[in-house]
Amino acid sequence: MTEQRSGTDSVTLQLTCPACGGQGAFATWNCIDGTRTPELRQRLLHDENLFFYTCPQCGAKIHVETTCLYIDRERHFMVWHVPDPKTAVSLGDVYRYLGEADFSAYRCRSALTWGEWREKILELESGFDDRMYEIIKYSAYQLLKPDQQKQLPLEMYHIDYAKDDGNAADLALVFMEEEKKGQGYVYAVTAKLLTMTQELYLPLLQKVTPHAGEGKFERFSYAWAGSFMKYVLAAIQQPNQAEYRRLVTYWLETLGQEVFHADLTKK
Ligand SMILES: [Zn+2]
Repeated sequence: MTEQRSGTDSVTLQLTCPACGGQGAFATWNCIDGTRTPELRQRLLHDENLFFYTCPQCGAKIHVETTCLYIDRERHFMVWHVPDPKTAVSLGDVYRYLGEADFSAYRCRSALTWGEWREKILELESGFDDRMYEIIKYSAYQLLKPDQQKQLPLEMYHIDYAKDDGNAADLALVFMEEEKKGQGYVYAVTAKLLTMTQELYLPLLQKVTPHAGEGKFERFSYAWAGSFMKYVLAAIQQPNQAEYRRLVTYWLETLGQEVFHADLTKK
């Protein structure tokens, strides 16, 4: 039997507490193999305390985000959490953690924050193209009125499981209320909407950036979706794009109906 080597690689960091200056050790990971250490996948997705360090001297709780690669060998994706964009990550590191050489079939992504990292793993586990979730997430937020955006801040807006059963194919947009801690609105992202989004935008994405995220760790985030949609909305203003403009307008109306279950009043 061949040895099933786990790529999970733990590391202990020496930290200086910013509150009291005391020293302490924090155990974390350089790489998490979600397939071969499923208990760590569970903690990464569900344990908010996983990346908090508690100072042994004064008890201060500090959020520690370090560079960590997540791999799913069954669904063939990798998401590299790189909190400092200046940190260079390479396929050489992947080989070192995983002891294998061929990851050509993998979708490769990077994420800046722990929240974005978790969100990206959920999106890629769902089986749909993660870029469609990002386009839907970005565009749905643009449909809110300014006072609603103020009440439901962007920093707290995220993608999560639609229900407590944690069904991978069943994700939702979650808008959290700023004033009321832990309260918010959950709107399911339907398969119908994902399919429609893909039909409309995938041909364009394949034309503009073919082979995106293949063998290269790319960040398809909210900001990425914003740039892409600005490009689309500018392009459809061209006189020869009347048909595409009609389709994008219809998609935006459907998005409003599907997500918010309401007809949007046209401006
Ligand atoms: Zn301390």
